[in-house]
Amino acid sequence: MSEELSKEYFVKVIEDLIPWIEDRKEYFTDLDSAIGDGDHGINLSIGFREVASHLDEWKGENVAALYKNVGKALLDKVGGSAGPLYGSFFMKFGVPVKKKGPDEGVTADEFVEMMDKAIAIIQKRGKSTTGEKTMNDTLMPALDALKAAHAAGDDIKTAMGKAVEAGKAGLESTRNMVATKGRAMRLGERAVGHLDPGAASTAEMLEIFYKDMPDA
Ligand code: ADP
Ligand code: MG
Repeated sequence: MSEELSKEYFVKVIEDLIPWIEDRKEYFTDLDSAIGDGDHGINLSIGFREVASHLDEWKGENVAALYKNVGKALLDKVGGSAGPLYGSFFMKFGVPVKKKGPDEGVTADEFVEMMDKAIAIIQKRGKSTTGEKTMNDTLMPALDALKAAHAAGDDIKTAMGKAVEAGKAGLESTRNMVATKGRAMRLGERAVGHLDPGAASTAEMLEIFYKDMPDA
């Protein structure tokens, strides 16, 4: 199968995540102030500033090594829950394509496998699943939609567009949930009526993965 997503695409996603988090930092922090401790946007900003300061050194490596470096930076620099969970996502993302050369891109099949591995590690590390008012409520339905659309023959951008929509619906579903994981757990019913900050940030992150894909 031919390469559908170039190495440049994977670099661009990281380049676009850096200004995105600065733009959205306050919003994610506001969401976290309502049901957590008000640092979600700050946490991600600390991590991606570290990524920004090293990206030029890492760009020349293959997709797996680049994303592993991003994940490591998030793991090392960010405290709290979301930093390590985001970190694990990026660490795992490139594993299925770790044998590629520095200029090689990936096929659609490989991309779906990468998302699968990256999203699966969050349930493992977080000991969590859907319905607990976490980022899983965005990521797991998004992954299901991506896999289903890919299996049905959609091109990768169309499939990822469906994943983004499913992720947004999942995010919206967190509004009426009581949290059974993370800091919002302590609020019980008082968390109802608020979106989960990690579900919100991951929904927007997936949208960047989508928007940066070239049209089929
Ligand atoms: P902290 O909760 O340590 O302050 P952040 O504010 O950066 O960290 O991130 C909070 C987000 O992390 C939550 O909104 C939720 O989406 C996610 N989260 C917390 N615990 C878990 C978990 N066990 N599994 C999945 N996601 C989690
Ligand atoms: Mg927090």
